[in-house]
Amino acid sequence: MRPMAALTHCPYCALNCGLALREQDGTVVGFERWKRSPLTRGALCSKGVTAWEQMPHPERLRAPLVRRGGRLVETTWEDALDRAAAGFARIAARRGQLANAVLSGGSLTNEVAYLVGKFARLALRTPHVDLNGRMCMTSAGAAYTQTFGVDRAPAPLAELDRADAAVVIGANLSSTFPVVIPSLLAKLRRRGGRVIVVDPRAGRFVAGGDCWLALRPGTDAAVANGLLREIARLDAIDEAFCAGRTTGLGEALAGAEPWTPEAVEATAGVPAARLREAAAVLAGADRVMYLHARGAEQQVTGVRNVRAWLNVALARGHVGRPGCGIDMLTGQRNGQGGREHGQRCDQLPSGRSIENPDHRRVVAERWGVDEADLPGKGRTYVELLAEARAGTVAGMLLLSTNPMVSAPDLDHTAAALDALDHLVVIDPFLSETAARAHVVLPGTTFGEIEGTITSLEGRVLRCDQAVPPAAGRSEIDVLRNLANRLGAGHHARFTRGRDVFDELRRVSAGGPVDYAGITWERLRDGDGVFWPCPTEDHPGTPMLHTARFGHPDGRARFARVDPSPPPEATSADRPLVLTTGRVLAHYLSGAQTRRIPAQVALSPEPVIEVHPATAAACGLAEGQLAQVTSGRGHVVVAWAANERLREDTVFLPYHWPVANRLTAADQLDPVSRIPNFKVTPVQVRSVAPPAPAGRRPQPALDSRCGSSDLHDHTTTTRGMA
Ligand code: SF4
Repeated sequence: MRPMAALTHCPYCALNCGLALREQDGTVVGFERWKRSPLTRGALCSKGVTAWEQMPHPERLRAPLVRRGGRLVETTWEDALDRAAAGFARIAARRGQLANAVLSGGSLTNEVAYLVGKFARLALRTPHVDLNGRMCMTSAGAAYTQTFGVDRAPAPLAELDRADAAVVIGANLSSTFPVVIPSLLAKLRRRGGRVIVVDPRAGRFVAGGDCWLALRPGTDAAVANGLLREIARLDAIDEAFCAGRTTGLGEALAGAEPWTPEAVEATAGVPAARLREAAAVLAGADRVMYLHARGAEQQVTGVRNVRAWLNVALARGHVGRPGCGIDMLTGQRNGQGGREHGQRCDQLPSGRSIENPDHRRVVAERWGVDEADLPGKGRTYVELLAEARAGTVAGMLLLSTNPMVSAPDLDHTAAALDALDHLVVIDPFLSETAARAHVVLPGTTFGEIEGTITSLEGRVLRCDQAVPPAAGRSEIDVLRNLANRLGAGHHARFTRGRDVFDELRRVSAGGPVDYAGITWERLRDGDGVFWPCPTEDHPGTPMLHTARFGHPDGRARFARVDPSPPPEATSADRPLVLTTGRVLAHYLSGAQTRRIPAQVALSPEPVIEVHPATAAACGLAEGQLAQVTSGRGHVVVAWAANERLREDTVFLPYHWPVANRLTAADQLDPVSRIPNFKVTPVQVRSVAPPAPAGRRPQPALDSRCGSSDLHDHTTTTRGMA
């Protein structure tokens, strides 16, 4: 049973570590470890232990803002809501409903996510609603749907405790999942298991005995194909599993055939002997867990890359049984639930397709509207920014998303937002994006709204409310008030998260993502319930695919994957490959963590990591800064040497409005429409700092979490001006 404290879950990554918020006189004043919280049992990384500081933070927005005379000034809720709604109504009347759009976030609760999709379609009556998960999880989600027929991780992470080997693909667990998973990998090693790491950069979690496949960015499918070919050569295909439970193995093997270890070495830079070693590990291990993240996914071949890895797991029968599974490591707090409940442009609640007539009919009936009144498929996140820049979208509502840091090609993004006639932003802080808005409505932080989230395992978790919203209204209140003003209040009549959840689960009944049996009361004991859970006496489904996959014939689909080169090739002018990602101290666009002193102390500025040999070749010396130039422009940042990074690759974190000055907005995966954040040709050269130089003190290791992204191989030199 939950004690009387406000039990909730960390607002950052989708491990969703549990914590208890301490409240005094209506303010959050600290936290306690929630030792019985699911999976993580009270463990938190450095971000988690300081997350509570968001709530009483002095920079919180405590009143709405409207733009007058070019400046944002405080106003009343009634005035701000009137202006926000009137702007959308005016644009719809003059230019049509397709001229309005909504962009939202994967950190929102399931209930707000559900209401966002409903609000866009029934209040704004636009098809254009999408979330920032489009830039994060959509390659993995599309690949899982195509392969397994279900967009959810097949197995709980605890299955790592029974695995003989693990494969970590395109993920730095030291930065993004620093608790639980590294510990489970350490246990695996102690019992003699092997860890295979596929990444151009080895994080601190990578141990000496691990098999590190340091691939060239953009060559994931070649490496996976090479492993599949070697597994077949070793006669290690699980023939019974493949014959009984899958289709398409022959096509997948035909696609892999050209990828000999030597061909992989030539393309990916992974030594042939190392690839053979990894294949032998997979061929000899009965139980293997595969964990993948954005390294393989945020590319124009993101969906195909993931499918190539799913081929490997299926070929060995490493799905649907104990100690096995291939799981996507979800970066955003509710990246899983956020993409299940209808705030994607191609999706209705409960993972139903907006283009499937049966799905449309069910949702229309449950919402009490005509099916013909439901808009069709809209445009995706980055495409909508392009539409804004082109002038075809004139009004935008943004919730908990900060494209002025996180979207590709920030000059393009700024031009898009500045071209809008009407930009309304809901956010707890005045983010870089909110600062450009016409109306800013204060949003909640994680302790100020009740609701549910869904972990990267597919476990639905309850989040209790500790204190009232800082500015008096939650996103549920705001959407209800906006809907009222747009004549659609009856579709958003809610005041409490639990009431939205009740409607959400009823609408989900019988759908691909079925929450029907998960009641608010069932979530009270804190362990959560795994979907699908169709009835109130159903126990939930921690492990998927034990007997059949989600496709109508019950079989998983292999795919033939033919690797293709990245959209931009390196050249004499831009010989290095920029790949972007996270550091331990910060979360996504940094709108929260860049305001928390302990996190800023850990990581005060963007620092590009460069191999020492590359640094020497570029003339980077202590006291110098790095000028990084791509096809979009250049930035000047501090640099650090990292010998556990490929010599042809540089790494720059994306938490500041810097990295995405270099990435491209027009390089999207054809299926998932995810941008290419991982393979950008750049030139790096040394420039002198404009101010007196001096060696910056090494940031301290964070002893509270027992893990840090700052490892022995990194030397940080003078910071940016
Ligand atoms: Fe846990 Fe840290 Fe992730 Fe928060 S950011 S959920 S504390 S690992």
